[in-house]
Amino acid sequence: MSELQPAVAPRAVKALVQRIERDAARLERGVAFMEVCGTHTHAIARAGIRRMLPPNVRLISGPGCPVCVTPIDYMDRAVALARRADTIVATFGDLVRVPSSSSSLERESAAGHDVRIVYSPRDTLRIARENPDKHVVFLAVGFETTLPGIAAMLEEAELAQLANVRILAGAKLIEPPLRALIADGEIAVDGFLLPGHVSVILGADFYAFLEQELAVPGVIAGFAPADILLGVSRLVELALEGSARVENLYPRAVSQRGNPVARELLARWFEPEDSRWRGLGEIPLSGLRLRERFAHRDANRLEMQLDPTREPRGCRCGDMLKGKIEPHQCPLFDRACTPLNPVGACMVSGEGTCAAWYRHERLEVAR
Ligand code: SF4
Repeated sequence: MSELQPAVAPRAVKALVQRIERDAARLERGVAFMEVCGTHTHAIARAGIRRMLPPNVRLISGPGCPVCVTPIDYMDRAVALARRADTIVATFGDLVRVPSSSSSLERESAAGHDVRIVYSPRDTLRIARENPDKHVVFLAVGFETTLPGIAAMLEEAELAQLANVRILAGAKLIEPPLRALIADGEIAVDGFLLPGHVSVILGADFYAFLEQELAVPGVIAGFAPADILLGVSRLVELALEGSARVENLYPRAVSQRGNPVARELLARWFEPEDSRWRGLGEIPLSGLRLRERFAHRDANRLEMQLDPTREPRGCRCGDMLKGKIEPHQCPLFDRACTPLNPVGACMVSGEGTCAAWYRHERLEVAR
């Protein structure tokens, strides 16, 4: 079943929906499963999977979109760096429209400051070579999936003695928020749809803590509709069995051990630190900072004129990232807040829950 290929997907989708309906009818209470990957959030919305499920099986979105969980003070620092005359900010495109307390990188770029959208962290090296008199700062936001590429870029900068390359570290780890959500207990999570991409690096064995310590089941799933439905179906079965197993339903990409080379690279450059998450607050040892011996690559060491931090008024991204509400329950959704005029980060990123609902589920909600 886990080797489903796109060619058999339509028939597989129908069979899986029927299987979920059949099994869900045997549940004694409604269940809620949380996806913790922005790509899953988007794929679920695009395929209309929520509407395929019986009413007693609910999918809720968690803190899986790296742009969305990045706190506003990180964007304030990015904006402050962009305003420095001797600094170029290099970033993936999804961060440029995220509001800071008083601006955004897009607005700073329009005001003449040097903000460059890049498609790979390695593009930072080219920009640094072309601009030897400027600091070139890459905005290092992401989970365990993105960070090895950034560490590799830094390693190359060291080898090439490119002294003007720095990063603004904003990386997050996936395990601490899962623990925090369960410990918090505000939301009853009956199982996790675990992130396919992050799991390629971490490996399936990494999630043993869910079963052994938190007693919450999880399935690692791919991103095609059949992959996701297979994951939901298995979570329903585990709920019926009362089991807290963690299963890898995506073995074509995720191994048991993950990618040790990528993890070693991460460990060489970064160490865990307490980190603030939008909506979840500070979570112990949930972020990554550069190790002290690489302090010369840390953009936080550059002087910055910071604006006072101000959260966007009325935005409920925080509740969204905890799975407490759905986008249409935010009073600003599709009114003051749209992808063209985003109030919060969840409406900006392609992986953000509000953006995914706006694109794919808005009309269904309006009915
Ligand atoms: S709809 Fe906009 S304002 Fe409301 S939670 Fe989402 S991003 Fe924030």
